[in-house]
Amino acid sequence: MRYVFGIEKIESIKWINETSKEAVKSTCLRAKCGSIIVKDNQIIGKGFNSPPRELESQRKCLNDKLVYAEKVTDKTCCIHAEQRAIIDAIKNNSDKINDSTLYFIRLDLKNDILTSGKPYCTHCSKLALDVGIKEFVLLHKEGICAYDTEEYNRFSFDYGK
Ligand SMILES: [Zn+2]
Ligand SMILES: [Zn+2]
Repeated sequence: MRYVFGIEKIESIKWINETSKEAVKSTCLRAKCGSIIVKDNQIIGKGFNSPPRELESQRKCLNDKLVYAEKVTDKTCCIHAEQRAIIDAIKNNSDKINDSTLYFIRLDLKNDILTSGKPYCTHCSKLALDVGIKEFVLLHKEGICAYDTEEYNRFSFDYGK
């Protein structure tokens, strides 16, 4: 992982602003998240978190996660923003996804940008690595941080250790 500086930081701020525009569209009642995937200075995939196909019948945002069995490894009813962005890129720009960069942002309920803690979502970390995304970018309180997707997946599995 590395914190970005200089021209790369200016570029990253631009993409984080684009990512927050996606997050504003989230309908999740628990967390508003957005993600975009960028390759060669172009957005090739984007997404926000919400129930699958926006079906209210599938919404369980406010369920206590303790109601699920341990085997239910993803206790979030909503499709993750990163999953949506990856699916979008695969559908529309599958030839460009290799060596791309994924940005992720979370907003508060007033649509102000929040900083992210350490990575922990192993569903998204595996998927990003598997489809060939090169870097996963988060906004930490220390700054904008780019992770190689291999280390991002490792760090996610090591969360809390
Ligand atoms: Zn939700
Ligand atoms: Zn995730």
